[in-house]
Amino acid sequence: MHESCGVFGVYAPGEDVSRLTFFALFALQHRGQESAGIAATNGKSIQLYARMGLVSQVFNEGSLSQLGGDIAIGHNRYSTTGSSQPRNVQPIVVGDRSRAMAIAHNGNIINAKHLYDELSDQGYTFRTTSDTEVIANLILSSPEKGWVDKIRYAMHRLQGVYSLTIMTNHTLFGVRDPLGVRPLCLGAIDGGWVIASETCALDHIGATLIREIEPGEIVAISENGVESYREEAGRRAVCVFEYIYFARPDSVINGRLLYPARQAMGAQLAQEHPVEADLVMGVPDSATAAGIGYARESGISLCEGLLKNRYVGRTFIEPDQRIRDLGVKLKFNPMPQILDGKRVVVVDDSIVRGTTTPKVVGLLRKAGAKEVHMRICAPPIRYPCFFGVDMATRWELIAAQRRIPEIRDFIGADTLGYSSIPGLVRAVALPRDTFCMACFTGDYPIPVQLEMDKLALDTDAVETYKGPFGIEHE
Ligand code: SF4
Repeated sequence: MHESCGVFGVYAPGEDVSRLTFFALFALQHRGQESAGIAATNGKSIQLYARMGLVSQVFNEGSLSQLGGDIAIGHNRYSTTGSSQPRNVQPIVVGDRSRAMAIAHNGNIINAKHLYDELSDQGYTFRTTSDTEVIANLILSSPEKGWVDKIRYAMHRLQGVYSLTIMTNHTLFGVRDPLGVRPLCLGAIDGGWVIASETCALDHIGATLIREIEPGEIVAISENGVESYREEAGRRAVCVFEYIYFARPDSVINGRLLYPARQAMGAQLAQEHPVEADLVMGVPDSATAAGIGYARESGISLCEGLLKNRYVGRTFIEPDQRIRDLGVKLKFNPMPQILDGKRVVVVDDSIVRGTTTPKVVGLLRKAGAKEVHMRICAPPIRYPCFFGVDMATRWELIAAQRRIPEIRDFIGADTLGYSSIPGLVRAVALPRDTFCMACFTGDYPIPVQLEMDKLALDTDAVETYKGPFGIEHE
């Protein structure tokens, strides 16, 4: 399961804004490993450098030195299947000399097809197949005069999820959709301001968190300082998977550091699904904190029985058959010296299709584990996500197709326990109606999602949804 994209922006006259953006993107690499890009402006024109690859592969001193100026935005991208093309790298720069803008997007626009047709009829042309360019052209097409009003106009027309950084030659904007599905925060740095998907990016560049950008808010940063404009927001729907898996555990969302929230998920699992065992381990890295929480609550010893190769990222080198056969072994290495003859509780973040978990269980058994008890922080995922998470169609979701005892047998575990929804809410310690939990409940926070769900139940329609009108989602 992949979340798709990290965004960043900095307004800091006199600072090396492209270098700051590079290190912020480096800290947000977990949100997207397919391509990276930076756009910077010196107040007269916008320069862009964006390529396929990891941040460290895309940029070097030479490319960064081309990106001088006072304002920069950056983007890390993970795309859904089929849209992995150089032309879809971000940020995207649109407009002409008098109204140029660059935009970076994390989210998913549900009515992109409708808006794409409308803008095409008006004569707008598209260079990419991404919904980000639809947002960009929608802003440009606004009859309003100022940039804030143009962005507002677009927000009234857009349906879906968007956390955006936008840059003109003189202003940096941060924009969050009215549901607030994806995170976006505002920070201060010597002589300037930053906007980032996650607070961990602020920590790494020495910026201080000021606050989160509110759902439905536009923040404009210019020589006038920070100005805020708020659209009326309805219910919030923060993606609960940001807490379970996507965001880094050292990030803060809704005022809550994720690390203790993940430990609390493990503790909840220990209460809901106790078992007699010798060792507890979290599947690294996303379930490490939850493993600690389970061990503390249950009193069972914590161990690291499975080591992760932390430098496995997206690679453009095709593995040969021998390497491909190693599968999950390429990522995880179990230690028989620790696991042999032991009853092991394994805490993981989620089971989506059920393709990886049986391999992890198999690795542990091969390393000598006598019993394997899987405990899962996310409740069973029964519905697809239309909010920008590349998850699966409903047909591919194992919990939509099988009952829990069947899943236990399929993955080869001795026991299997999922967190309950109330247990997850207790662990996150925020009101239930703060979150989107649609992939567990089917209760999508905006009505149009139900339409998309009906489409998704028909696999042909899913192809229609992704393909013929040429719009893919960031
Ligand atoms: S459906 Fe699930 S993955 Fe998608 S935004 Fe909602 S909680 Fe997150």
